[in-house]
Amino acid sequence: MTQPALDLVIAALEGIREKSDHAPRASRTTLARLRADESVTVALRETTALPTGRRLQGPDKANLLAAVRERVSACAKCGHLACSRTQTVFGVGNPDADLMFIGEAPGADEDQQGEPFVGRAGQLLTRILKAMNFAREDVYIANILKCRPDMPAGSFGNRPPTPTEMQTCRPYLVEQIDIIQPSVLVALGAVAVEGLLGTRAAMRELRGRWHTYNSIPLMITYHPAYLLRNQAPSEKRKVWEDMLQVLERLEQPISERQRNYFL
Ligand code: SF4
Repeated sequence: MTQPALDLVIAALEGIREKSDHAPRASRTTLARLRADESVTVALRETTALPTGRRLQGPDKANLLAAVRERVSACAKCGHLACSRTQTVFGVGNPDADLMFIGEAPGADEDQQGEPFVGRAGQLLTRILKAMNFAREDVYIANILKCRPDMPAGSFGNRPPTPTEMQTCRPYLVEQIDIIQPSVLVALGAVAVEGLLGTRAAMRELRGRWHTYNSIPLMITYHPAYLLRNQAPSEKRKVWEDMLQVLERLEQPISERQRNYFL
C-alpha cells in the first residue's frame, strides 16, 4: 500500500472511532493484509463497515481510486494480456457517482484511448445517458476486465473475456465499487453479469428486473453493442424501459417525453 493510501485508511478509521459508539476492529487476517501491502478497500470493507448514512467523501474516493488505478496500470496477472495491451483501461467518470455502469472488457478503440466505452457502442451508451439527462461525467463507467482481450495475430475485432480472465481481474472492479459506493449499478450484457455475479443466464431472463450486488440494487440490460447489431425499435425500447427503472430508483424526475422515448 502506498503511504497516501495508508494515510487515507488510517484517517477513515480515526473518523469512525470519533463518530461511532464502537471502535473499529480489525481481524488478524486484515491486519496481515494491510501489512502485506494488499488492497486498501478490502481492509476498509473488512474493518470499518461505515455506520449507516455515512459515506466516503468525493476527494477521498478520487484518491483511493487513483491508488487502485496505479496498481492496475502495472498489473501483469494475465501475462498474455499485459503483453498485448496498449494500456490498461481503468474506468472513467465521477468518483462520487450515484450510478455506475459495468461492461465486459475494452475493445480496440478503448485499448487505444485508455477509456472505456469510446467506440461505437460507447457512443450509443453516451446517447442513452444523454436521454436520461446525464453526462458521462455524472456517472462512473468501468469494465470487468481492465485489459483488452488479445486476438490472434492478423485478426480483427474483439473477443469476450474468458471466465478465468474475468475472475483474475474482478477484484479491481470490486474495489472500484467499494470506493464509489453507487446507489445503483447497471450491468451491460450477459458477460458483465457473469463477471460480476458469476451467474450465466440468457439476457431475456436477467434483464428488466432488479438484482443486487453486495446490497446495491443492480439493473441488468443489454450491452449497447447488442443494440448496434439488432436495431429493432422493440429492443431499444427494452433497454430504455430498464433505464426508466433506474431513473425511478434514483428518484430522478422523468418527463412525459422520456417516458414515451423509443415508442
Ligand atoms: S486483465 Fe486485469 S488482472 Fe489481467 S493483467 Fe489486465 S489488469 Fe491485470
